[in-house]
Amino acid sequence: MKPRILIVEDEPGIADTLQYALRTDGFEPAWCATGEAAIAAVRAEPPALVILDVGLPDLSGFEVFRRLRETADVPVVFLTARSDEIDRVVGLELGADDYIAKPFSPRELVARVRSILRRSARPAASDAPPAAPLRPLQVDDGRRQIRFYGRLLELSRYEYGLLKTLAARPGHVFTRDA
Ligand code: CA
Repeated sequence: MKPRILIVEDEPGIADTLQYALRTDGFEPAWCATGEAAIAAVRAEPPALVILDVGLPDLSGFEVFRRLRETADVPVVFLTARSDEIDRVVGLELGADDYIAKPFSPRELVARVRSILRRSARPAASDAPPAAPLRPLQVDDGRRQIRFYGRLLELSRYEYGLLKTLAARPGHVFTRDA
């Protein structure tokens, strides 16, 4: 079965381009032009991943994201057009899985989608090549992010440092004064 990708984007030209690129790459794209429609669509049938434009006519992409997270744990890639939006996404108060800035290359976006789906994949089907074993904690030092079984954790600076130390020495017992 092809992974279903929901595009939430009010500009038909961009939505068309994305749908074409996704379909060419073996995905099944769906499209919503408003935030409310996207929230309803995800509730009705959660897709494998959501591509979410920040600038929508009815709700902001951030608001849509917050409401999606209340009901579904679906991976989200933000599409951003302005640098202040990028700052907010990168600040990751939000816990999005990735973002891409407009103008973007559809091929690059599809590659990101593929990589996120790989990270968040369930154990591989029997006919799929064996995936590398997923470590419970994945530390991304560049972005100062830690994922737990592929799910991005919301951590303070202190919590990040602590968890990173622990993740580096699995099985090791730390004492307070270590
Ligand atoms: Ca827009």
